[in-house]
Amino acid sequence: MSDGVHNMMTVDVEDWFHILDSEEAPGRERWPDLEDRAAANTDRLLQLFAEAGVKATFFVVGWIAWQAPDVVRRIASAGHELGSHSFWHEILQNHDRQSLARDVERSRKLLEDLTGAPVRGFRAPGASLTEATAWAFDVLCEQGFAYDASICPGISSHGGFDSPYPGPHRVRCDSGELVEIPSSTLAVGGRRIPYAGGGYLRLFPYWLIRSALRRDNRVGRPANIYLHPREIDPGQPRMALPIARRFKYYVGLRGAERKVRRLLRDFRFSPCWDWIEANRSCLGGVLDVSSVVAAHPPRPEPSRVPPPPPQEAFSGAAGV
Ligand SMILES: [Zn+2]
Repeated sequence: MSDGVHNMMTVDVEDWFHILDSEEAPGRERWPDLEDRAAANTDRLLQLFAEAGVKATFFVVGWIAWQAPDVVRRIASAGHELGSHSFWHEILQNHDRQSLARDVERSRKLLEDLTGAPVRGFRAPGASLTEATAWAFDVLCEQGFAYDASICPGISSHGGFDSPYPGPHRVRCDSGELVEIPSSTLAVGGRRIPYAGGGYLRLFPYWLIRSALRRDNRVGRPANIYLHPREIDPGQPRMALPIARRFKYYVGLRGAERKVRRLLRDFRFSPCWDWIEANRSCLGGVLDVSSVVAAHPPRPEPSRVPPPPPQEAFSGAAGV
């Protein structure tokens, strides 16, 4: 067990076909016909966490909460925190302010109605909260979120966010303040590379991840580990993706569960909100979003704005 720093263990609850921004991935109209593997894989993660005595934050895609409400209830009844991973799992670049507000408001309500517990945190699909979509912070503040865990302050498929803060910090925008929990990155040759989640966690050897995490913890900085249920599922169907994307989504699936077990054994973890409550006094720095938005005005009309979350998703979500 490492020193006293608590890290954050997070899971983005989505299924094997929730591939972002890809012509090859099935459109949302096909999702109901595809094999559900998220429920069983999430249960497997719940089991790993229970064995290790770890509580985590699960950022749940609203569509999954609609299709598999019992998964959400099982996460909550095991004592984990629930956060929103949007309803349709669409990158923020494809939203405008109005569609994102509608999406996060409804996805949050869906989760809160299912469990009776408040949802305080949001994570954008694909770390798509970048300088170009920094307007989203205002939407999150207006919708009452207390924290966000979307920024990747390093290289990222959707651009990353050139932020001076590699650890948890405050964000100030026109409509208020919230806490940002960025994904963990490792400084290499003047750039920062994510090391603590998704394909990076599957690709990198465990000794490198442990060493980067220890380096963060030595300076009092918590790591933010992010997993997906599909990460521990070597038997998932493979999609015909371009070669670079196949590598990203399918590399290292066989060894991932073992790495998660070792992380759970070697480090301490908390859900995001517990960590924030215990560490408010040592949050590093304030990111001023209005100056970022002024330098990166929103695109006038995103071409692929997703539809509103369907009304049917809310009819059966009465509390536990
Ligand atoms: Zn996601």
